[in-house]
Amino acid sequence: SAVRENLTYEGFGSAVRELAQTIADDGYEPDIVLSIARGGVFVAGGLAYALDVKNIHLVNVEFYTGVGTTLEMPVMLAPAPDAIDFSNKKVLITDDVADTGKTLKLVHDFCLDHVAEVRSAVIYEKSHSLVKCEYVWKRTDEWINFPWSVQKPVVRRSGQVLDA
Ligand code: 5GP
Repeated sequence: SAVRENLTYEGFGSAVRELAQTIADDGYEPDIVLSIARGGVFVAGGLAYALDVKNIHLVNVEFYTGVGTTLEMPVMLAPAPDAIDFSNKKVLITDDVADTGKTLKLVHDFCLDHVAEVRSAVIYEKSHSLVKCEYVWKRTDEWINFPWSVQKPVVRRSGQVLDA
């Protein structure tokens, strides 16, 4: 369908504060925020400030190649965070959306082998997600336009290059 859920940067600012409040009210105090790049990096930064967590890590996962088009399975791109010492750490995984949930499941299962406790926080969760995140700001089944990816990458303006 052509229906979209549109999140603005302003809307994101409110969403991430509300999400942080939910996590704080629940009493979860993560030692590490582990973000799934790239969309989860925005969420990680906002939550880490709001929850006063100073330790952010990230994993790169490739899955979506376009609107509704994916690879067969998400893959963790090198370098995987093997070097991070997660032992006895409480981890909060962040992403922008749990859609099929496959991306979050990949990272969640990776963490289970390594950490004391792991929970997940997302801005959006779709009803068919195979992972049920502990912390969700909003549920939707529409395709979401995020402010960081709704526009195409910038291209160099011609005629703007000056000699060094
Ligand atoms: P999943 O593995 O849960 O199907 O997908 C997770 C990733 O796919 C998200 O981090 C996001 O990058 C991308 N994705 C899934 N659904 C949407 C959507 O509705 N809108 C946008 N912009 N990206 C999505």
